[in-house]
Amino acid sequence: MTIMPYKTIGIIGGGQLGRMMCLAAKAMGYFVAVLEPEPNCPCGQVADIEITAAYDDMNAIKKLAEISNVITFEFENIDYDALAYLEEHAYLPQGSNVLKTKQSRFREKSALRDMGIPVADFHLIDSLETFREKVFFPSVLKTTMGGYDGKGQAVIKSEDDIAKAEEIASKYECILEQFMPFTKEISVIIARSTTGEISVFPVAENIHQPGDNILIQSIVPARISKDLEARAIEYACKIAESLDSIGVLGIEMFVIGGEIYINELAPRPHNSGHYTIDACETSQFEQHVRAICGLPLGDPRQHTPVVMMNILGDHMDQKQPSNLAPYIPLLPRGKLHLYGKAEARDGRKMGHINLLGDIDESLKAADASGIWNP
Ligand code: AMP
Repeated sequence: MTIMPYKTIGIIGGGQLGRMMCLAAKAMGYFVAVLEPEPNCPCGQVADIEITAAYDDMNAIKKLAEISNVITFEFENIDYDALAYLEEHAYLPQGSNVLKTKQSRFREKSALRDMGIPVADFHLIDSLETFREKVFFPSVLKTTMGGYDGKGQAVIKSEDDIAKAEEIASKYECILEQFMPFTKEISVIIARSTTGEISVFPVAENIHQPGDNILIQSIVPARISKDLEARAIEYACKIAESLDSIGVLGIEMFVIGGEIYINELAPRPHNSGHYTIDACETSQFEQHVRAICGLPLGDPRQHTPVVMMNILGDHMDQKQPSNLAPYIPLLPRGKLHLYGKAEARDGRKMGHINLLGDIDESLKAADASGIWNP
């Protein structure tokens, strides 16, 4: 099914990913409707239609289905009933397969292992007793559902870490996985269209904020060997094809020595792909729109080296988030993207800046700005 311009794309979730999808869709002539409980959300500010309701409000889901020719989402924890309804009564080209796999870390890791792709060793932990029986050092306990950016996780390096982990294991189903002594974290953003066409963006090298695991910086091209780069892309293609994934898929990976291990999947545009907006011929958001609408995919080629810096609430004037003064010195090389969130809080993703040109100079400029130095 090919959707021609000037039809409506419905997006579930109105945060920054929805907003940037919407901006790309609007540039291509689509109308956009968004479903989001928070009024005046980042996507609602730029969409044609804003439906303000809970994600599991079936009347709102029906309304979105009625006015949209194609439906997509910006996050993976879509309500199960909503998903079933949309699959039957609307056009959801991404289907529910990848979402269902992704909604449980155990299913996700098992699917990857079954494809023959390297992942950390893991065990399902369905009770406190199982946890006590299986625990080993060093390991990481993660809730199977709902966690992201390191939330609902405990690193277990010694007996001192057991109490926090037991508290999580007593309340939630979890997986216990091997702690990976990675030398780098990288990611691959891959798009697969309804026609089966595949396109891969250059590998990103990602740096997370110590302590809370929130992405802070992506450097592209990643500073890894050609061999590792080729392997990362090979794994990404295998995953997208095996899962029959449609749209953009973000894949987070660990580099350990000469091997790559997959950490997790995000069946949507991904924070580590924001660099594509200014550094590639086609952005991950435009690529997503093309992929779900059955249009030919755009050229993913990178034309400029880039350092993407995330702007969290911590990096803004929290009393006056519109104060751009700290960013002015970076603007000669930086493309600033702010998401229109009124309130800046620590850890909240408020925007990002793509620093273009020589990577070492961009890193120096980011450092000299003092914005990201604690
Ligand atoms: P996740 O929520 O699985 O994306 O994890 C968030 C971050 O925690 C990752 O980006 C890593 O920095 C770290 N992390 C997750 N799993 C592991 C692991 N098995 N070993 C070491 N670090 C990990």
